[in-house]
Amino acid sequence: MEYIKSKIRDVVDFPSKGIVFKDLTTVFKDPRALHIIGWDLSQVYRDKGVTKVVGIESRGFIGGSILAFELGAGFVPARKPGKLPADVICAEYAKEYGVDVIEMHRDAIGPDDIVVIHDDVLATGGTMKAAYDLVKSMGPKKIYINFIIELSALKGRQNLPADVEVTSLIAY
Ligand code: AMP
Repeated sequence: MEYIKSKIRDVVDFPSKGIVFKDLTTVFKDPRALHIIGWDLSQVYRDKGVTKVVGIESRGFIGGSILAFELGAGFVPARKPGKLPADVICAEYAKEYGVDVIEMHRDAIGPDDIVVIHDDVLATGGTMKAAYDLVKSMGPKKIYINFIIELSALKGRQNLPADVEVTSLIAY
């Protein structure tokens, strides 16, 4: 874990003043760190029968795909509006200014699925809560939530359902 931590780059004042952006491109470009991430992310779910990993656009696509591959599960994207080609369902969530929307294909998840929803960073939790609501509406057997990084000071977990197992590899 210390090795992964050493590869995370803090970018000050990005995308706006006062934000310290946790840049994971410096982790993903390092072969050893990428390998460790895949292994460490997947350990928690090895015996859980996971059938689908949902990755949130766009940085969640990277860890989510690796996690799906490690678990022998399928990968499902949760995307920004207008990107998915077939019939979609959508959820709105509050951003710092205004609202944002996230979409998934209506047939992406079924009642037999056991799902992990993955994103790179948990900040306020708004994005993940919207993705959770979409997945939940498709009625899977079980939902887990997963992040590489959790920014604990922002208390994002408080915005996520209390009865859902939330796992993050690294907490700041
Ligand atoms: P949230 O506030 O939890 O809805 O976060 C919104 C999105 O922005 C998530 O997908 C995160 O990946 C990203 N994000 C928010 N804050 C940061 C940060 N400090 N560093 C990197 N990514 C962030």
